[in-house]
Amino acid sequence: MARPLKCRKIFNPPKMKGFKPFGIRMCENIPVILKFEEYESIRLVNYVNLPQEDAALQMNVSRPTFTRIYNNALKQIAKSFVEGKAIEIEGGNYEFENDWYRCRKCHKLIEGIENHSRCSNCIEFGENELIKLNS
Ligand SMILES: [Zn+2]
Repeated sequence: MARPLKCRKIFNPPKMKGFKPFGIRMCENIPVILKFEEYESIRLVNYVNLPQEDAALQMNVSRPTFTRIYNNALKQIAKSFVEGKAIEIEGGNYEFENDWYRCRKCHKLIEGIENHSRCSNCIEFGENELIKLNS
C-alpha cells in the first residue's frame, strides 16, 4: 500500500497558471507540468535565497525530500527551456495557510472567500467563477 504523502506547505500560489514560450508554434505543444511544491522550491531557493535546509523547514519536508522536489523543478524548467515547451503550474501535494481562489475569467487571485469582491472586468459576481486552489 502506498504511504500517504505529507502535504508540503506553500506560502501562496503563483500569480499565473503557467508560461508560454514565444517564437514557437503552440499547437501540438504539450506543456511541461510544474507542481505547486516545485514552483515553491524554486521561489524559496532562487528568489528568496534561502539555503535548502531552511527551505525544507518552511515547506515542512525533510532535506532529502526537498532536494528531490527542487531537482525535479529544475529538470522540468530545463525541459521547457530547451524544448520550447509551455509550463503549466498545477497539482502536487501541497497546502496553503489560507484558502486561495482564482477567478476563472480574469485569473486574479483571492485569499479567502471573505475577500472576494466583484472583479472590475468581470460582469458576473458569485462563487461560480472561482476555482479553489487548495488541494
Ligand atoms: Zn474576475
